[in-house]
Amino acid sequence: MKKKLIVGNWKMNGSLAANQALLQALLAGMGQSACGVAVCVPAPYWAQAQVLLASGAIDLGAQDVSQHAVGAFTGEVSPAMLKEFGVRYAIVGHSERRQYHGETDAVVALKTQSALAAGITPIVCVGETLAEREAGKTEEVVKRQLAAVVHTNGHCISEIVLAYEPVWAIGTGLTATPEQAQQVHALLRAQLQAATSHADRIQILYGGSMNAGNAAQLLAQTDIDGGLVGGASLKAVDFLAIVSAAQ
Ligand code: PEP
Repeated sequence: MKKKLIVGNWKMNGSLAANQALLQALLAGMGQSACGVAVCVPAPYWAQAQVLLASGAIDLGAQDVSQHAVGAFTGEVSPAMLKEFGVRYAIVGHSERRQYHGETDAVVALKTQSALAAGITPIVCVGETLAEREAGKTEEVVKRQLAAVVHTNGHCISEIVLAYEPVWAIGTGLTATPEQAQQVHALLRAQLQAATSHADRIQILYGGSMNAGNAAQLLAQTDIDGGLVGGASLKAVDFLAIVSAAQ
């Protein structure tokens, strides 16, 4: 059986003091975890998190990565820079990046490629908006988003983590039902199976208002291999409850 993976996405939250308290509480409360655990912290705090997470019990992640390796790209952060701070994962194509920063499927595919080339595991996000779901376009949208990444990354696709995040469930308190989520995860798995013989080892995470109360049911679904957790990752007790639901 695949190991489950729980990833916290702190988004643009934190401070030196708050991060220290949160990470220490997570480390103290976690013990020996049977699942993978990571936190994606804002870039200015990687150095702090690298020191605090030196035991290796929790992996460090970034919330984005540049498609470029080096050069005149003001404000961007390269995968090699992530590497220097011990970053293992980078979220790529989060709906907030697609929506507020105009990231297209093609850009997301290139970011995935640049992360993989540097040995960073991209957590590639796909998901439909409420309007797209209501128009019956969920399948079409997530398949198109994943197809761009598959097309650009070829056989390396088996090295990604995929996250299904229905946009209408992110930060809204609305969660896809376990059945709704499983349905999309199954079709994403089938799409991966058509692209690689290693599809079964790709972790497909669910994200969208996952919390201590709904995590166990979501994580019990056949094709849900973990969670990408926003709001609930900012409170140690909530995040720890999700981690323990994944064991
Ligand atoms: C996210 O930002 O990836 C996310 C899933 O957020 P939330 O858990 O707050 O819905």
